[in-house]
Amino acid sequence: MSNMKCDQCKREYNRYSPECPECKNPNPDYEKNIGQKTFLPIKYQIIFALLGSVFFTLLAGVIQLICYAKFGSEPSHSQEITILAISTFVTDGIIFLIFLLFIIKFRKDILRSFKVWKNYIGMAIVFGLLFGLSLLGQFLLQHFCGLHDGENERLLNDVIATYPALSIIFIGFLAPICEEMTYRVGLFSLLHRYKKWVAYVVTIVIFTLIHIHFTAEDLPNELLNIPLYLLGAIALTFAYDKFGLAGSICCHILNNTILVIMRIAS
Ligand SMILES: [Zn+2]
Repeated sequence: MSNMKCDQCKREYNRYSPECPECKNPNPDYEKNIGQKTFLPIKYQIIFALLGSVFFTLLAGVIQLICYAKFGSEPSHSQEITILAISTFVTDGIIFLIFLLFIIKFRKDILRSFKVWKNYIGMAIVFGLLFGLSLLGQFLLQHFCGLHDGENERLLNDVIATYPALSIIFIGFLAPICEEMTYRVGLFSLLHRYKKWVAYVVTIVIFTLIHIHFTAEDLPNELLNIPLYLLGAIALTFAYDKFGLAGSICCHILNNTILVIMRIAS
């Protein structure tokens, strides 16, 4: 626990709280302690962490079930594209709208790091490293380990080719915002209250795991992507820790938007 003592009532409380929970005396070191990060009340950190992970998975599952009920259990390739597009866009859209209500409610805390210009410089450096190392890693994995596009990538490429504008909006912008709210403002900040290294390890591991398609037909090929997912998880978590949401959201949006545009162009 990272506790501090209240100047007024001498009780111990968490140093990432804006005020003493006992006597409401403001925490004099609050801004210094949280850095560029966003620390919402614990209840909301838990809601954020669950919203984009557990609730997202359940919602996507329900929407897919409805789609399969409509198209049958053996959909054609073009129906598969429609099902993936509907489940991706509708799920991201609903989760984003829920987050938007919380963003408006906590706009002061959530938008704080966007007003600090240094965060954009830090973000640009992290993004440059992430994108460069990702391209290099992908090249090495393709040439020395035989990494190739699996069924998931091909299907996603077809969704992007069929719905380019919606893909830029949903995959490029809304999905990164939802993921940063869930894994950085939610999970990372929640665990950071107790131990910083635990927050790093758990967030990086979970963020890597959610990007692996464990149901892929060619699982060994899918698992070759782990170094790339891990690199993204480390870069975004570091960007959030040092440069706040401005750092991690901008880095994530740039990364996804460029990847979507590259796939549209190819
Ligand atoms: Zn107090």
